[in-house]
Amino acid sequence: MTNGPIFGAMLQEFDGAARILNLEPGIWKILTHPKRQITVSCPVQMDNGEIEVFTGYRVQYNITLGPAKGGIRYHPGVTLDEVTALAAWMTWKCAVAHIPFGGGKGGIICDPTRMSRRELEALTRRYVAEIIDAIGPEKDVPAPDVNTNDQVMAWIMDTYSMHVGHTSTAVVTGKPLELGGSLGRREATGRGVMISARESAKHLGFDISNATVAVQGFGNVGSISAQLIGELGARIVAITDWKGGVYNEKGLDLAMLNDHVRQQKTVAGFSGGTSVTNDELFALDVDILVPAALENQITMANAPSIKAKVVVEGANGPTSPDAHRHLHDRGVFVVPDILANSGGVTTSYFEWVQDRQGYFWTEKEVNDKLEAKMCEAFNAVLQTALKYRVDLRTAAYIVAISRVATVTRMRGMYA
Ligand code: GLU
Repeated sequence: MTNGPIFGAMLQEFDGAARILNLEPGIWKILTHPKRQITVSCPVQMDNGEIEVFTGYRVQYNITLGPAKGGIRYHPGVTLDEVTALAAWMTWKCAVAHIPFGGGKGGIICDPTRMSRRELEALTRRYVAEIIDAIGPEKDVPAPDVNTNDQVMAWIMDTYSMHVGHTSTAVVTGKPLELGGSLGRREATGRGVMISARESAKHLGFDISNATVAVQGFGNVGSISAQLIGELGARIVAITDWKGGVYNEKGLDLAMLNDHVRQQKTVAGFSGGTSVTNDELFALDVDILVPAALENQITMANAPSIKAKVVVEGANGPTSPDAHRHLHDRGVFVVPDILANSGGVTTSYFEWVQDRQGYFWTEKEVNDKLEAKMCEAFNAVLQTALKYRVDLRTAAYIVAISRVATVTRMRGMYA
């Protein structure tokens, strides 16, 4: 079991909703324990000839609704506590999104910015070989997360397929299109963030086409969220990433910024704006703030300075529980991660369905289905929040816990 701070934050969120639901103690216990935690050591021969041993994790938090689903991240700060919390959040996210998956997550402690492509491929393949018995289209289906992409997914798919002796596309999602990926998957998390921001503005009665937006993070989620919210007419005035940030009150030119990032690997130093720090970005007088980097970024150290009307959580776990309470008490409309960023896993579900059917949809079909699923989830959470007079995060947990608890009761206890 794990009792670290990130899993602790997840438990605080869970407990608040479980109390309101009057959840019975037995189901409460089951849903607050990870089903499986796997730790593996992955030896890799590095380019300099030396052998390094990397620690990797895969956690299957709950598989009551279906196969475990969730990404794999490569980061020096990965811990079992973090991966377990992220796997729990995937469980609630899939339940809120109303897709037939449980929750899982993987991570490897490594610094991919200091590794060659060959080293990353070797590490990925060895990690997959180490967890091979636990994954599969019916068991556990990984996907991209922080610092992993479609190429990494292709290596996972190939390694798994080599071991089972046939091509198995549905073992992983977020793959390149040519080998069973889905149109729209790369943009899907950002598209869901955009839909969440748009629906929030509609509910609160302000016009998103005149809104100002600040985004923390410019990876897959931050960059696509900025682009798609910008396409609604909103002005993206500030963006920060791991190295620095840029601000332009007239709105950043995202096409030029993307060119800059392709060359420099960071938004820092972009000539179309002035530089801005993370704390300055959080304190900007904008309508919408999108944290799209790592967990625990909005804490009591910076939450009091936040002026945004709406916070749309593109990242997983970006807001600490006390900072969340503070924002809610001040009337900030926080769209929680397990709803706001669920567009990614929802389109992963579409990819898994297409792989299993061997029949692929047009981009319009994918985006239309995502639009419908996101709006269904947003409305379910909003109605629950109004009914119980709670914040959206508690409401999302109420929706998720009710769905997983109902199936747990129906299936009953084995042995
Ligand atoms: N890593 C993404 C997330 O945190 C996507 C997971 C998936 O598609 O399975 O939601």
